[in-house]
Amino acid sequence: CIRTRFAPSPTGFLHIGGARTALFNWLYARHFGGSFVLRVEDTDQQRSTAESTQAILDAMNWLGLDWDEGPIFQAERVEIHRQKVRQLIAEGKAYYCNCSPEELEDMRKTALQQGRNPKYDGRCRDKHLEQGADTVVRFRCPDSGSTEFDDLIKGPISFRNEELDDLIIERSDGYPTYNFAVVVDDAEMAITHVIRGDDHINNTPRQILLYQALGYPLPRFGHVPMILGDDKARLSKRHGATSVMAYKDMGFLPEALVNYLARLSWSHGDQEIFSRAELVELFDLDAVGKSAAVFNQEKLLWLNQHYIKEYPRDSLASAATEFWKEKNFPIFDNALAEQAAADFKGRSKTIVEIAEAAAFYFLDELVYEEEAANKFLTPDAAAPLRAIHAELPALADYTKDGIDAFLRSVAESCGVKMKFVAQPLRVALSGKATSPGLDEMMITLGKERTLKRIREALS
Ligand code: GLU
Repeated sequence: CIRTRFAPSPTGFLHIGGARTALFNWLYARHFGGSFVLRVEDTDQQRSTAESTQAILDAMNWLGLDWDEGPIFQAERVEIHRQKVRQLIAEGKAYYCNCSPEELEDMRKTALQQGRNPKYDGRCRDKHLEQGADTVVRFRCPDSGSTEFDDLIKGPISFRNEELDDLIIERSDGYPTYNFAVVVDDAEMAITHVIRGDDHINNTPRQILLYQALGYPLPRFGHVPMILGDDKARLSKRHGATSVMAYKDMGFLPEALVNYLARLSWSHGDQEIFSRAELVELFDLDAVGKSAAVFNQEKLLWLNQHYIKEYPRDSLASAATEFWKEKNFPIFDNALAEQAAADFKGRSKTIVEIAEAAAFYFLDELVYEEEAANKFLTPDAAAPLRAIHAELPALADYTKDGIDAFLRSVAESCGVKMKFVAQPLRVALSGKATSPGLDEMMITLGKERTLKRIREALS
């Protein structure tokens, strides 16, 4: 049975790269009917925070990446890590080392001067030191041979063991290092597929040696290529937002981001739009590319626009309400929010655009855009607006068609072209020169508020 995991270190937000790793693990587990485990790697006591853990869980929830087990906190498992370290020491596969930072620095310099790879020279290997205040535990790495694995994404990879260090597996504070804890936890949690960023490729041979030393069966590894910015440098803050929740704040829908992240380095023909169900059905690691993917915000916007159009009315309204609720509008209810959001779904790329453009629906006193008011709320506009105000109360057919016919008849009786009715009315109702259709706006506002806005424009 397939078991994958996402193992974030809680030292910051969930960023785009981490989210894609989480998504691939989630998809792989869901595709094969396996389990997806969430493990919080919080053994770095200095850098891990509870806020970061919460932020990561919030972002996973927002993306809809649900886990079957967890969150499991690695720091709560240090007893088992310590026990496994002792096992390796007892078997002569690991040893205490008390080299001082100065000594290590000298070792490094000498190696570099002699043109050698600056690695730990193993001088404490056979000293049989006991545990002390300043001792760390190192793993005795084989001096020869090679460590190979067949990466699910990158293909066969091989490292010469002599290039690997006698890595530290337990720090002097008694906490395991990443490479050790990750192996013990993945093995004890029976993870079958370790899917992670390719920045970990160099760790994998070390981890394989640890699996072997501990007598654990090996999982399969798949290293996902990294994400680059448009200048082909590794995606970072200077390319714009990198945290998942920043995309929520910018008005992206989780469906759009999930679709976009899935398509970053994974493909299925030239299809671009995938529902979550389709992704689960089609995803596999053999269709993940080997080389880096470029993050393209334009494409994400395009997908977002697509998902906004497709979104159910009530979901669209709740997404927009997240932005509206902090404004404390004087007039607000769910029915109005639903109509307001729906009026803009065909013309917006983000939820923020909808929220901003539709805000005029919730105001008691409209604020006119100056240019629009100067141009259209002129003395000439008074006659058609007055006519609408006088005759609208009697309009029985307050529907799209009824309103359209009504406005045309007003234009006719005033002897003006439709646009001399429409533009002033548009500004009177929305405060702006561009807006949804007049009929849509009038229906969303309702007759009473429509009349009130016309009165205010006339006064
Ligand atoms: N905690 C590690 C990280 O966030 C996990 C890497 C792994 O998946 O093994 O980079």
